[in-house]
Amino acid sequence: LVSRKWRVRPTVLDLGDGVRVGEGALTLAAGPCSIESEAQMELIMQHLLDNNVRIMRGGVFKPRSSPYSFRGLGMDGLKLFHQMARARGIKIITEVMQVSQVEEMHDYVDVFQVGARNTQNFNLLDALGGVDKPVMIKRGISGTLEELLSSAEYVFSGGNEKLILCERGIRTFETASRNTLDLNAVPILKEKTHLPVIVDPSHGIGIREYVPTMALAGVMAGADGIIYEAHEKPEEAASDGAQTLNFQESSRLIRNLRKVYALR
Ligand code: PEP
Ligand code: MN
Repeated sequence: LVSRKWRVRPTVLDLGDGVRVGEGALTLAAGPCSIESEAQMELIMQHLLDNNVRIMRGGVFKPRSSPYSFRGLGMDGLKLFHQMARARGIKIITEVMQVSQVEEMHDYVDVFQVGARNTQNFNLLDALGGVDKPVMIKRGISGTLEELLSSAEYVFSGGNEKLILCERGIRTFETASRNTLDLNAVPILKEKTHLPVIVDPSHGIGIREYVPTMALAGVMAGADGIIYEAHEKPEEAASDGAQTLNFQESSRLIRNLRKVYALR
């Protein structure tokens, strides 16, 4: 069902308030790896509004490699995130980690994010197939594109056609970067599926200085959008600071992304 053979016309999602994801416009989503505080959300939302970016990312349930790392503000954080975003006309995308959270989070998210560690959590995918909210599925850390498409098929066949795919880098033998952003994925997915494809250069390369370059390359490769990490003080971020842009870097990237998209 997610194949171009089944549906030729590209899928375009309408998140409401004129925010669309898919062919016809460049989708930008930015924000911290983790939602940390009300004051932080205030600053980041203002940064997004200043740059006419309508989607904010930010985790409240964080999948951390170590159990001792910051694991997010949970539902209280999400409720506040939702309330503040709604007041400003901003849409939110945040990660859902398990089936029991789907119902709890439902009314407070605009897009459910399925993280790279959960791409093949088939129970979670089944549960998301039954909701009426868009879902962005990230490619698994060692996942093939075929596996990513199969994961999308779970949600789509469950009845939820509002899907976005995200290339976020894969684990390879290379150790110079956190992950290897596989930009080959973009043209291949765009050919194979009618679903929107977006690129996450932050997790894809993991090194702040190189994030803008890879974001621009993602757009040139044909991505429908970019999702990246931005924070008022990346050095103090509770997670993923080393791959997070400050506001100056973020504003510059947004301008350049729009220029490059216009050249396509
Ligand atoms: C994130 O978006 O902060 C995240 C945890 O991403 P991934 O699942 O791609 O590692
Ligand atoms: Mn992160």
